[in-house]
Amino acid sequence: MSILVYTESENGKFKKAAHEVVSYAKAIADQMDTTVTAVAVNADNAESLGTYGASKVLSIKDENLSTFNAKKYASAIEGAAKNEGAKVVVVSSSANSKYLAPLLAVGLNAGYVSNVVETPSNITPFTVKRSAFTNKAFANTEITTDVKIIGLSNNSYGVVEHGGSATVEDFSPSIAESGINVESVDKVTDKVTIADAEIVVSGGRGLKGPENWGMVEELADVLGAATACSKPVSDLGWRPHSEHVGQTGKPVASNLYIAIGISGAIQHLAGINSSKVKVVINTDPEAPFFKAADYGVVGDAFEVVPQLIEKLKAFKAQNA
Ligand SMILES: Cc1cc2nc3c(=O)[nH]c(=O)nc-3n(C[C@H](O)[C@H](O)[C@H](O)COP(=O)(O)OP(=O)(O)OC[C@H]3O[C@@H](n4cnc5c(N)ncnc54)[C@H](O)[C@@H]3O)c2cc1C
Repeated sequence: MSILVYTESENGKFKKAAHEVVSYAKAIADQMDTTVTAVAVNADNAESLGTYGASKVLSIKDENLSTFNAKKYASAIEGAAKNEGAKVVVVSSSANSKYLAPLLAVGLNAGYVSNVVETPSNITPFTVKRSAFTNKAFANTEITTDVKIIGLSNNSYGVVEHGGSATVEDFSPSIAESGINVESVDKVTDKVTIADAEIVVSGGRGLKGPENWGMVEELADVLGAATACSKPVSDLGWRPHSEHVGQTGKPVASNLYIAIGISGAIQHLAGINSSKVKVVINTDPEAPFFKAADYGVVGDAFEVVPQLIEKLKAFKAQNA
């Protein structure tokens, strides 16, 4: 019996969330005195997962899984879990993992808890803490089924290097037929995505119009960040809907979130609460966002942001 963890990759490269779920699974394995087996799908360098605590990697190389399909992926992971006799399966909280986890739960007759933020507080009964009500509350939840699935909230545990090594085994599970076939996926941009970003630079209606986004993009470029926006900004067509964050948009779990000209309405905050450090730039000292901020600049974005870009460029040049 080992802890099984599904590690996501893109174009053969593991995502940051993959390293985090393995680190987290290792912590649970230590609690339960067992080991971690990772499932990697069409990924290169499977052995590298040993660094984060995997003892074994089941490496699946299959054309059938070249694009994400929840049913097919769930069946492959189910095969791996049964092969290992896993009692705990860990997945991330990415959109894809949230899509496949309920199917996996059906296949394994398992209880699934999403948005988990900590290692289990108890193994018997198996109790995990999850965020609820768009991060405004926590629920301590018992999973009573024999097999348990945990969806780890992204960026809640972090990546921990253990310096170990993993053995890699080729694994060929039977893959379910699906009524949906994804033929190809065309990405809109090569830029870092909001879900994977360590840093997100986000703009609101305070930026007055789409013509002023040059400085947001420049700041994001200097920081290697993703760009995001508030809902009205995407509703107005200033920015694509894929950038809208918040309760009805994408969740952000970055290490740094810079909000420029965003008031901090509860629906916006609901999506960014999991970000570690929040910096707010706003002309209005009474803007609600300041209450949620770690650092706040009361000032005009059109003065503050260009100066910030200049300082960051100078800092980078000095430290190059
Ligand atoms: C059901 C529902 C769901 C919603 N879901 C979401 C969601 O998912 N995400 C979301 O974002 N919103 C959502 N909203 C909308 C939300 O309630 C707010 O209306 C929205 O977040 C406000 O966007 P904003 O902060 O960009 O704009 P505003 O509220 O107009 O705020 C603009 C801010 O910019 C500041 N400002 C103005 N000029 C400058 C300047 N020159 N420099 C610096 N600061 C300046 C102002 O002081 C102000 O604080 C939802 C609303 C509802 C009802």
